[in-house]
Amino acid sequence: MRILVIQMQATSVPKVRPRFDQALGVLASVLRQDGHQLELAAFSRYQSPEIHDAICRFRPQAIYLQADRFAADITRHAVEFVGRHHVLPVIIGGLYATAQPDAAMSIPGVLAVAIGEPEISVRRFLFALERGDDYERTPGIWINPSDAPAVKNEPAPLSANLDVLPMADRELFDYGAYVARTHAAQVAVARGCPHKCAYCLSDWLADIYLGRGPWVRRRSPGNVCDEIDQLCERYPQIERIQFMDHAFALDRDWLAKFSELYAERCGLPFTCHLRANAIDAESLRLLKEAGCDNAIVELISGSDFVRNEIFDMDTSSRQIERAFRLLATGGIRTTVVHLLGTPYETAITVDHTLELIDRIRPALVHTRLFVPLPGTRAEELCRDSGWLTGLGEKAFRENTPMLRMPAMPAAELTRLLHEFNWQARHPRSSGLMKLLAKLPVGRGKTLYDLLVRHPIPNGRLLPSDPRSIDVREMDGVMNP
Ligand code: SF4
Repeated sequence: MRILVIQMQATSVPKVRPRFDQALGVLASVLRQDGHQLELAAFSRYQSPEIHDAICRFRPQAIYLQADRFAADITRHAVEFVGRHHVLPVIIGGLYATAQPDAAMSIPGVLAVAIGEPEISVRRFLFALERGDDYERTPGIWINPSDAPAVKNEPAPLSANLDVLPMADRELFDYGAYVARTHAAQVAVARGCPHKCAYCLSDWLADIYLGRGPWVRRRSPGNVCDEIDQLCERYPQIERIQFMDHAFALDRDWLAKFSELYAERCGLPFTCHLRANAIDAESLRLLKEAGCDNAIVELISGSDFVRNEIFDMDTSSRQIERAFRLLATGGIRTTVVHLLGTPYETAITVDHTLELIDRIRPALVHTRLFVPLPGTRAEELCRDSGWLTGLGEKAFRENTPMLRMPAMPAAELTRLLHEFNWQARHPRSSGLMKLLAKLPVGRGKTLYDLLVRHPIPNGRLLPSDPRSIDVREMDGVMNP
């Protein structure tokens, strides 16, 4: 079959490139092995002429639409357009479909919704669809027959042994262009995560897979190195590996074996995610020996209350400071991910965050406004507290306030966002900011506007260090 993959990305950037996604890449490999032909078209807004063009050019027999978590509105418009103008079976997959399957099923024109990891379920579904067999009982697929009630099948079993899966297909994503731009390759070593951060879907996903195999699974170090060998051969410009998993360094035995093998077989410098509550001298040694020189740490908030009572991160300020001391000693450059405007954010919690950042001194702070992810405990809390507005997806894409919290009005949050990077770099500079606001530079602007008021469009990074990567490109699809 000819299958057009439509990737709906949640970003304010109007014209987007295909974004590599490990799970979609593995699905593409599996489907190509079955003889299907695939092409990918990526969108960040509803663009009916472009969707029409992509369909006319490729002439697909089916559409697999992978939607980001905050791309439901553009997905709905796109599917309705396909339903009105092209008679094609549409399957929706990805995290949006998994977290909100009822909403995805309600879109007119959707034939099927793929829940969770797609390589088993979507493969079986397409196999049956192509042969005209009965596909209504396919595990992991919800079916939307036009003339009968919806069929909601149980999730498919998890792929227990990740080593037997084919390597992700990267041609689908025009991966050579990514390598040419970044001189890096993204690699995922695991699926699932043992943590239960309340702003993340991990625990919810673990629940839907309960009894269907272990949730946290890892590829063997040899299998990971095999993929990197193949990547380096295919894309000689690769100079760095970006490991996408939040759980990358959480299994000490695996990390010890990986460190030895990676140093021996690969040796390229790499970036990875680290959890501040799981970094000690031994893990640091293993990471250093393997070649880690850049780490991304989810700080989220400088408030112990927000981090641990609200988001269940089980990470104290003391652990964070200790972890950053170790990382600095090891010469590992750090990027922190920070969410502004979390539940119970106040001027005091913002000060706590700035003070903590001042103490741990990361090289880069990636700040974005908090928008609760549908299906998470954080969203439940915001709903129960009456803070949710209808702005969710738009707010996420445009990095504007979404919650209405009496203690943190939207205008104040916007001001804090604009000033945050400056304040993180220049602690205790409120007097200087006031002075800059009085110094005109023409066209009604002041030095404050030029130097301080830098909105960070959709979390874009400011410095141009080659190791400064967009953290949004560092998350695997099943590592929400
Ligand atoms: S994937 Fe990341 S955010 Fe989600 S539970 Fe794990 S550590 Fe927390």
